[in-house]
Amino acid sequence: MTQAAPELNPPPRILMGPGPSDTHPRVLEALAKGTVGHLDPFYLRTMDELQRMLRGLFRTENRMTFAVSATGSAGMEAAVVNLIEPGDSMVVCVNGVFGGRMVDVAGRAGARVTKVERPWGEVFTPDDLRPALEAAKPKVVGIVLAETSTGAWQPIEEISRLVHDAGAMLVVDAVTGLGGVPVEVDAWNIDAIYSGTQKCLSCPPGLAPISFNQRALDTILNRKTKVQSWYLDVSMLANYWGQERVYHHTAPINMTYALYEALRLIHEEGLEQCFARHMLNHRALKAGLSALGIEYATQEGHQLPMLNAVKIPPGVDDAKVRSTLLNRFGIEIGAGLGAFKGKVWRIGLMGYGSRQANVLLVLAALEQLLAEQGHAFTRGASVAAANGVYASS
Ligand SMILES: *Cc1c(COP(=O)(O)O)cnc(C)c1O
Repeated sequence: MTQAAPELNPPPRILMGPGPSDTHPRVLEALAKGTVGHLDPFYLRTMDELQRMLRGLFRTENRMTFAVSATGSAGMEAAVVNLIEPGDSMVVCVNGVFGGRMVDVAGRAGARVTKVERPWGEVFTPDDLRPALEAAKPKVVGIVLAETSTGAWQPIEEISRLVHDAGAMLVVDAVTGLGGVPVEVDAWNIDAIYSGTQKCLSCPPGLAPISFNQRALDTILNRKTKVQSWYLDVSMLANYWGQERVYHHTAPINMTYALYEALRLIHEEGLEQCFARHMLNHRALKAGLSALGIEYATQEGHQLPMLNAVKIPPGVDDAKVRSTLLNRFGIEIGAGLGAFKGKVWRIGLMGYGSRQANVLLVLAALEQLLAEQGHAFTRGASVAAANGVYASS
């Protein structure tokens, strides 16, 4: 007979990396509530309310606003495979890992992909896209609002105008963006947008909030070929999330509770207050890091409040700092990826994780570890600098 494995006993962690981020206690409680059927009248009402709160957060009237039953990458796939038919032209903006992932997804969906690139840590201007739009005449352009691998905060509005002037549709990756910075789906004329629950929504990973506007839906309903993914086919999902409530797949009921509670938390706080909190904690962290002589790896003026990509000081042992933060303090921060591997730390202040206690703790812990490694700085200055930001806010 197989012996049962030991009881699950996850160590207490403070998740200050690129995601997952700390789950809010109220969200954990919501997850533990009783499971009902996916067609139960209570569940259908819960879905309606979730969609209403999601539209509020996305700032859209889009009817087709719902949650894909999988993580953020499935949101990316859903946006791309529904809009792209084999042979279609798609332009993808790549300035980090997630733009690169979108290129892969689009290629697999049969798109003829044109990559437009910027160096890691920088953002795109409309001028960067113009030549590709003229040459490739794309049906769809994909861009990442919050590039989690580099901390770059991409302005969307002007690029959206240019993309639509060129007759294309715009797909935006807001996996890390949603809940941390303003996202204006209708005002910015975004055709399809997706997110994930475990970045700024204070939830565990498991759902991908997504929204399609009417133009995107019309494109999907007029496809010549079937969507290559049965699971992610929006024309079928619309029958479950819309009025008909036709069974498609069994919804992850308890994750829906979690997202529902997470959205309640954001709307209780207020969107403006929520974004202001993310910005304040970012400013405090930045002041503290600066006192330690640590600089940002991202272009000035385009640094995300929820993902702080910072240069590892010369002579400091990257892996040792990260493992000691974890083992001594329970703090997880992120390593650099790709071009930033070994050069950059990624410190997340996402959702429930974006709070003063976390900022002061990570700065105090970093002071201790950097001092142990012989890095020169004024002791106590980083926590004082962060407190100075809080005092003057
Ligand atoms: C995390 C992330 C993804 C992928 O989401 P998963 O939930 O890991 O599948 C996509 N894009 C961006 C910008 C991300 O930060």
